Amino acid sequence: MIKVAKFGGTSLASADEFRLVAAILKDGDIKVTVASAGGKKGSNGKITDLLLSAYGRIVSGDDLTVALKDFYNRITELIYGLKVNSDIEDLRKTIECGFKKEPTLDFLLSRGEYVYSLVLSEYLGKKFVDAAEIMKFDEDGKFNLEISKFLIRRTYSENGEFITGGFYGSLPDGKIKVFERGGSDYTGAVIAAALGAEYENYTDVNGMYSFDPHIISSARRIDEISFEQARIMSEFGAGVIHPDSVLPLIGTDLPIHIKNTFEPLCGGTVLREKCEKEVFGCAIGQNFTYAKLIGINRGDKIFGELNDLNLVVSSVSKDGVIAIFKGDADRIKNLRYADKFIVCPQVYLLYLTVGKHSEKVADKIKSEIYTRYFCLNDSGYFIAFDSENKPSVIEILKTNM
Ligand code: ASP
Repeated sequence: MIKVAKFGGTSLASADEFRLVAAILKDGDIKVTVASAGGKKGSNGKITDLLLSAYGRIVSGDDLTVALKDFYNRITELIYGLKVNSDIEDLRKTIECGFKKEPTLDFLLSRGEYVYSLVLSEYLGKKFVDAAEIMKFDEDGKFNLEISKFLIRRTYSENGEFITGGFYGSLPDGKIKVFERGGSDYTGAVIAAALGAEYENYTDVNGMYSFDPHIISSARRIDEISFEQARIMSEFGAGVIHPDSVLPLIGTDLPIHIKNTFEPLCGGTVLREKCEKEVFGCAIGQNFTYAKLIGINRGDKIFGELNDLNLVVSSVSKDGVIAIFKGDADRIKNLRYADKFIVCPQVYLLYLTVGKHSEKVADKIKSEIYTRYFCLNDSGYFIAFDSENKPSVIEILKTNM
């Protein structure tokens, strides 16, 4: 089976990491490679952050070349380190001419992925494809999955193997548009879906863990997890992969394999649409709002309005409704009965995957701390609690990993 590989920023932070990537790409099954912009290393920050602050300086009047000095320095260092033929002066001119024609934040941000994928293609002697040619948005700014898949297939059948940048594409008028931060993961998934390829997503950790290993060192690597569970864990801050990355692969039977560039032989984590294995995984998200409204009847229009809230979970009983949504309590203001809701802002929400072990842990939490909300659905357990209970929840998780 052919593969699409995506490398995150830390996997492309400097010439040293490019060499590790080159070793991985000796795998002849990898036909398309998606590159992020360079990530953090030592005192060097993320390229995309650097471009973001450069844009701020340009808008407030700084000279373009001066504002982009740190970006050019980083690239110059990379080019020298790799001994590739790219000419920094040519790159500078292309970027600045491009920006003068299209002076947008999206254009400037996308230049990180553009340059890093270009340099990677030169280093490896492989064909470069500008992501603007294959990742297409509609006029209204919505990503057009079908057209993009068609263009990816056509590009692959005409050229064979290629390297492209993640995170951006183009609008019908040719202007550049970027995805959300972390969006290169999504680019990789779209290309894998288009080509019917296995998707290898290379990052700087060994995969998804049962909990954030920086907080609970005994957390275990998850071998296999379903798309839905991985998506919720990612949304709750288990930041290994962008939550939307699973979407293009639904219904395709294709897996996502999260792997570590720095330890490529480690098994990683495989995400599948359906995972038969019982998985124990949990994540705690913050900045949720809990809202309760009692004494309304089921036919009330309020139930439809709740869907505008960015709901994570909700429950409806004969005497009312409970809704938990991402973000602050302000959103309630626009709803009918706004002043009748009992609202608790800033609650924490714990997510536990479905399974015997999760059930045990969920019961323990419920019996030992005051929880505002407890719900089990097909995706897992959702438990809302106030901030002062966080240490106790962590303690229970720690002793039950
Ligand atoms: N470079 C972009 C970011 O830092 C996109 C990505 O890495 O996926 O968010």
